[in-house]
Amino acid sequence: MLEHYQPAWMSAEHTLLGDSARRFTAEHIAPNDERWRQQHRVDLETWKTAGALGLLLADVPEAYGGMGGDFGHEAVIYRELTRAAEFGFTGGRAVHAIVAHYILHCGTEEQKHSWLPRMAVGEAIGAIAMTEPGAGSDLKGVRTRAERRGDKYVINGAKTYISNALNMGVLIVVAKTDPHAGSKGMSLILMDPRDTPGFSVGRVLDKVGMPSQDTCELFFDNCEVPIENVLGGVEGQGMYQLMGQLPYERAVLGLIASGYSERALALTVDYTKDRSAFGKPLFEQQNSRFKLADIATTVAVGRVFNDFIIGQCIAGTLDSATASMNKVWSSEALGDVVDQCVQLFGGAGYMNEYPIARMYADARVMRIFGGANEVLRELIARDL
Ligand SMILES: Cc1cc2nc3c(=O)[nH]c(=O)nc-3n(C[C@H](O)[C@H](O)[C@H](O)COP(=O)(O)OP(=O)(O)OC[C@H]3O[C@@H](n4cnc5c(N)ncnc54)[C@H](O)[C@@H]3O)c2cc1C
Repeated sequence: MLEHYQPAWMSAEHTLLGDSARRFTAEHIAPNDERWRQQHRVDLETWKTAGALGLLLADVPEAYGGMGGDFGHEAVIYRELTRAAEFGFTGGRAVHAIVAHYILHCGTEEQKHSWLPRMAVGEAIGAIAMTEPGAGSDLKGVRTRAERRGDKYVINGAKTYISNALNMGVLIVVAKTDPHAGSKGMSLILMDPRDTPGFSVGRVLDKVGMPSQDTCELFFDNCEVPIENVLGGVEGQGMYQLMGQLPYERAVLGLIASGYSERALALTVDYTKDRSAFGKPLFEQQNSRFKLADIATTVAVGRVFNDFIIGQCIAGTLDSATASMNKVWSSEALGDVVDQCVQLFGGAGYMNEYPIARMYADARVMRIFGGANEVLRELIARDL
């Protein structure tokens, strides 16, 4: 059904890129998932392979090393990646793309030319450090301080739950440059995490799911970075820059969540057709059929909503409330879908050797990060 539906935004070029992403996913993502889960990080080589195939920064202009496509090119890549039901590379790539967009839309020409070409080929993996032990949803509570001394910022503080922390080659740090200036005292500062004395990465955090994601604490102990590393070249723009990029981030997360719902449905249809109980396949039991019919409907609605969002992104008209609706709806739908799919798998659905069990644990965080869904509901309500 969905296989034959062609959204208005999709061109032959998008389809071709989707084919390439599908091959990449089958050859380089799916076979490595288990190993990455054990080692708590994705291989750096895989990032470089993705870069060589043009599968990173698909919607960044060619002048900065990207593919010169639009958000539809990004979307087809996420749709193929989520077919592997793998969250390490897929989630890390989303953070990488979000970081690239901060640089693209807020950076100076020099910053764009310095970082984006390396990010496009997978040499510099992007990470962004907003969250701290004492401040997550409420970023005004950030305590990390970047103090200007001569031609340098001296950064002190700590961050936590930071994705891509072991693999990163470029980091955006959210820091207070003026603790007395309220939201105008916040800045985003670019740094090279491999070459900044005083900076260190803590242990990989032990999470409920997404074990292949290198999520860590970061420590800044008198880290010196040149003042020209402030994103956009002007201090105090951090809060506005964050607000400006949030719709993009939420569009990406909505897409990923709805892609995983599609995958969970496909896995469960296959399983219930294959396994029998009481003399017939589970799929022939009325409850299974009704549940799967409901899940398929949810998946179809999610796909159409996401296609609308993709169209808005391509047109440059996506607003924060609509993007938030998509992130909230798609991540909650995913939670519900994987929970019901686990039930249809029975005991097998609780065994980590089955992808559906891993998805159940991996998917939970999608309602928490990228803006907790309650915070996003508040944003949506403000627009009513
Ligand atoms: C696996 C993982 C990866 C992550 N990656 C990154 C990363 O790369 N970079 C980064 O900076 N951060 C990252 N985070 C952090 C993530 O963005 C935060 O966890 C999230 O923003 C919530 O912040 P918090 O954990 O401090 O929760 P809190 O802000 O303490 O909120 C806790 C709960 O309170 C409720 N709540 C909070 N505020 C409100 C409100 N105004 N109205 C109603 N309810 C509210 C919500 O239910 C929320 O879930 C990651 C987190 C995880 C788990």
